[in-house]
Amino acid sequence: MNKSKKYKIKEIFYSIQGEGYHSGKPAVFIRFSGCNLWSGKEEERDKAICKFCDTDFVGTDGKNGGVYSMDELITRINHITIDTKCRFIVFTGGEPLLQLDEPLLAGFKEYQYYLSVETNGTILVPEGLDWITVSPKSGAKFNQNSGNELKIVYPQEGIIPVDYENLDFDHFYLQPKDDKDMDTNVKKTLEYCMDHPKWKLSLQLHKILDIS
Ligand code: SF4
Repeated sequence: MNKSKKYKIKEIFYSIQGEGYHSGKPAVFIRFSGCNLWSGKEEERDKAICKFCDTDFVGTDGKNGGVYSMDELITRINHITIDTKCRFIVFTGGEPLLQLDEPLLAGFKEYQYYLSVETNGTILVPEGLDWITVSPKSGAKFNQNSGNELKIVYPQEGIIPVDYENLDFDHFYLQPKDDKDMDTNVKKTLEYCMDHPKWKLSLQLHKILDIS
């Protein structure tokens, strides 16, 4: 185990999971810095592989952000959860799998955390996760074709949900793309779910309720 490895964290916060299967569940979010599908710079959005991102994952300047060793990160999370005893962690980003690794997961497991990840599916997940949410992006390589939850932001040019239906996931979600065409996107998402009942609607509760 490389104890000197450092993890770049944009922010850490305690909130409610707003999307997908665990929607409504209190969770500690650990947002890793960086993504392999966009630099995060507005002026480079047009040439990004993933163009509709709504998340600031650049740098380490968010709440509780910083550069952490494994021990420092676990200590910080233990401190954040000391009163609530919340044991649900969501590793997110950016693309968390650029940094998240087995030693860190094993370290958290020593404290009985339930460990979930939200990934774009380009990088295979390490051992040690309890819940895997994969959200494929148009134009990006799709490598992680198994997990607990497949969540497609819809519509996306080049992504046809039915093409993913036979992959090894337990739950299939469509989530309306939050852009200037949101109303149309909601309508299209509802229609797709109604026509293809394997798919369930996922809404972004945290946006509807305006909580972070
Ligand atoms: S893959 Fe996720 S984090 Fe990366 S740019 Fe796309 S939406 Fe944002």
